[in-house]
Amino acid sequence: MEYDMPLFRPPSEARSLIFQVTLGCSWNRCVFCAMYKTKKFRVRPFEEVEKDVIEMSWLYPGTEKIFLADGDPLAAPTGYLIDVLDLMNQRFPNLKRISAYAGPTNLLEKSVDELRELRKRKLDVLYLGIETGNDALLKRIRKGATAAGIIQGCRKAVEAGLRMSTFIILGLGGVDGSYVHAKDSARVANAIDPHFLATLTLMLGPYERVYEEKIMGGGFKLIDKRQSLQELRWFVEDLEVSDCKFGSEHASNYLPISGYLPRDKEEILRLIDTALSDASSGLLRPEWARGL
Ligand code: SF4
Repeated sequence: MEYDMPLFRPPSEARSLIFQVTLGCSWNRCVFCAMYKTKKFRVRPFEEVEKDVIEMSWLYPGTEKIFLADGDPLAAPTGYLIDVLDLMNQRFPNLKRISAYAGPTNLLEKSVDELRELRKRKLDVLYLGIETGNDALLKRIRKGATAAGIIQGCRKAVEAGLRMSTFIILGLGGVDGSYVHAKDSARVANAIDPHFLATLTLMLGPYERVYEEKIMGGGFKLIDKRQSLQELRWFVEDLEVSDCKFGSEHASNYLPISGYLPRDKEEILRLIDTALSDASSGLLRPEWARGL
């Protein structure tokens, strides 16, 4: 099997066998994301995927976890996905779970019954970027979805028995939009009530100036380390989820923390407050250790 590069997967899928059922991202227009800019979206023909699955089932017959790539495989027709998942279940008898990235539009376009059919075939975790819960900002970053649409799409998946792994991006609102970004994102996360919730921090490297001046414009100013901690505080203090693993361990974040909500909320807030009040606390990741 050969991958069509670049290939991305969430860190938690490091031990999964990856199959590309679609290439690229069907939306591909978010201003902060360059992941699939070099690819044109397409659904791979079933025969190509079938060949990969059969070949890998000879090499790794004991596979337990599969990750479907690229950016939003659920953009493919449901019948096609059912055929792909049936084949995977047939060829990997020990298969426990299948996961994939998903976009809000994919979920809105599928019915709960369609999503249930995929769930029956071991599709389990969907990774979805909320990015922000603020509608003005969603428009500005060209996410192609509203907060209400993101909530509706994710709730359909949850109703179908899928586990949502969602994340927001600290810093997306810049300095001026930091507070509303944090507060609206918490409101959307609460409405989704996901199984997993994570934060990433916007990292642009050499593109910072271009992003501020040309892409976002209008006086947009990126937040600094301290402001990102404050934004995280504003976000976490509003979270009211029922049973969720929360994490900011992603390498882009300054403060790596994890815990279960609601159980660990006070402890998480205490750590954020310590990091905010004491720059020498040793809790923060040094700038050189941050990455995407
Ligand atoms: S939907 Fe996801 S993969 Fe596609 S452009 Fe936006 S952030 Fe990137």
